[in-house]
Parts: sequence; C-alpha cells; structure tokens
Amino acid sequence: MYDGGQGAGQLPESLDWLPLGRQPGQPRTHRHRGKTMAKEVQTQAGRCSTHGTVQATREVPETGFPFAVYAIWRAAAQRRPFLCPECGAAVQAD
Ligand SMILES: [Zn+2]
Repeated sequence: MYDGGQGAGQLPESLDWLPLGRQPGQPRTHRHRGKTMAKEVQTQAGRCSTHGTVQATREVPETGFPFAVYAIWRAAAQRRPFLCPECGAAVQAD
C-alpha cells in the first residue's frame, strides 16, 4: 500500500497555522451581561385534554426599553395559548 508521495498525510497539519474560522473584527462577544429578560407569568384556569382542569401558565415578556419591540413581543405572547403545567400542552380556556 502506498500513498503516492511522502508528506501527503501532513497536509492538514500544514494548514493549522492559518487563522481559519477566526475573523478579525468579529469577536465572539455574545455573552450575557447578567441581565435576563423579565418575564411575567400569567395563569388561568384551563382544561387540558389529558389532565382536566389545570392552572395553565403563560409567560409574557415585561415591558422594557425598546417599547415598540416589547409591545410586539407581548402582543405575540398574548396570542399564544396557556400551557398545562403538567405536560406543556395548550389548554382550552374555561
Ligand atoms: Zn396536561
């Protein structure tokens, strides 16, 4: 068995010095700053198809600085169904 030339197996190693995948000017600084988005948990009695009447919950983001953005998030969250705390399924509001 021959590989047709010496050094062929060293090719990947010879490229290790290249800064592949490291883009100058695009530092990966997507870290949390210890500030999490405040959530308001809404509860409502609802009917789960599996668990019957449950206290269903729904998380809605609390209003924060970019008011327009939060208004959209809240509006979207308000349209989501309440979820069963047991199985997470959408429940029918009573
Ligand atoms: Zn359930």
